[in-house]
Amino acid sequence: MKTEKRIKVKDLLNSTAFGSEVTVKGWVRTFRNNQFIAINDGSTINNIQAVVDFSSMDETLLKRLTTGAAISVTGELIESLGKGQKVEVKVKQLEILGDSDAEKFPLQPKKHSLEFLREIAHLRFRTNTFNAVFKVRHALGYAIHKFFNDRGFVYLHTPIISASDAEGAGELFRVTTLDFNNPPRLENGEVDFKQDFFGKSTNLTVSGQLEAELAAMAFGEVYTFGPTFRAENSNTTRHLAEFWMIEPEVAFADLTDNMNLAEDLLKYVIKHALETCGDELEFLKNRLIEEEKLKPQDERSELDLLAKLNFCLNNDFERLTYTDAIEILKNSNANKKKKFKFLIDKWGVDLQSEHERYLVEKHFKKPVILTDYPKDIKAFYMRQNDDGTTVRAMDILFPGIGEIVGGSQREERLEQLENRMKEMNIPAQELYWYLDLRKFGTAPHAGFGLGFERLVLFVTGMTNIRDVIPFPRAPKTAEF
Ligand code: ATP
Ligand code: MN
Repeated sequence: MKTEKRIKVKDLLNSTAFGSEVTVKGWVRTFRNNQFIAINDGSTINNIQAVVDFSSMDETLLKRLTTGAAISVTGELIESLGKGQKVEVKVKQLEILGDSDAEKFPLQPKKHSLEFLREIAHLRFRTNTFNAVFKVRHALGYAIHKFFNDRGFVYLHTPIISASDAEGAGELFRVTTLDFNNPPRLENGEVDFKQDFFGKSTNLTVSGQLEAELAAMAFGEVYTFGPTFRAENSNTTRHLAEFWMIEPEVAFADLTDNMNLAEDLLKYVIKHALETCGDELEFLKNRLIEEEKLKPQDERSELDLLAKLNFCLNNDFERLTYTDAIEILKNSNANKKKKFKFLIDKWGVDLQSEHERYLVEKHFKKPVILTDYPKDIKAFYMRQNDDGTTVRAMDILFPGIGEIVGGSQREERLEQLENRMKEMNIPAQELYWYLDLRKFGTAPHAGFGLGFERLVLFVTGMTNIRDVIPFPRAPKTAEF
């Protein structure tokens, strides 16, 4: 067993220690002309080339250099004469750590469709596309923590198993240990959840917001970053059943503070990705250009991925009220010529993704923050405006995505909150702890939820949300 210290490909590609002996471990991407091995170890999207002298190598060993095989190579680092790389390794010793049967390995060095790769999600990490996507995902996750940490926010872990479905954000996944073939029942026939594990009916959380509010009223500024679950039976390219959400909650903040925080956060993390994922974003930019060649000219992006991200950094998001947005949509050509699937005929209707994207992509041509929505299409906890019909809500809309952030200033006044809960049939006794906040030192506060995968979707230029989470959970999809 050899014990040479392994050097990562990323470091080797930047090294100028020509003549020194190095050991590389990784997976074979290609083996050409019985001579050139392209090795990738995941540390970078780029491969290192190892050159073997086939005349001095055991032929059976060379036959085992197939795509996907894990190998260890020791040799001299030399300056490369070949095009496309500065350094390469002149192989002295070659060891196959794990064979990969060329007949059976599904990833061949050719272009595979994203749909096919989704079916082999256990192997798709080994493609350039997914190497880039998940590196960017990592960078964004790191930047989110750094952003909040640098501003003194406390990272709060809110429960994944929840007993309240109060938010009404979506369909719930039930959590139970009861025998579903024969659950204990009350006399009236209903399932007796007193006998369930928690002594009450529980579900996977749809949001950590209500709990985050509790902590914000002590720490001032907190955020969550965790998994959330919604059994929405909608097969869209923007919805998952399990997704990650970032939810800051800030005391003594109003809706303007909330919008500023969200805009700062988005710009900060996009900038971080641009600064740290140059190779990956360059690759993803070109991938998108290739993908869009299959579309008709007028459906292609006007800006390439990098230009789009930079544009987002360098421009203020457009801020306007729901009411103003409805006017724009009502008078738009798309509405008049009946190009929308859902026509906008009156104030009060919920906006569909097609309307959100029209505002962002066609009308303003930049990210948009809509505020002050009708109270009837928003949650009970949003701060009521004096007009009696709207609430201090905000949605941030992004090109290609639609809604990426949903948030609001929260109703901090006990009486108004209780009245709204009554109107909406929200059981107050179950949420006594939430109401307690309004009884003991209440204060204006605000927060929002940023869907992490929608952010990754935007920054990577991918088109399906299932391609930016390692193992997507969606209707009829729970493999791996
Ligand atoms: P949508 O109208 O797109 O379904 P929503 O109004 O249900 O979104 P919120 O409840 O406000 O969304 O959740 C906050 C954020 O979480 C959204 O802005 C979005 O970025 C993200 N999000 C919501 N539902 C999903 C989902 N099913 N999959 C992935 N991300 C989601
Ligand atoms: Mn939804």
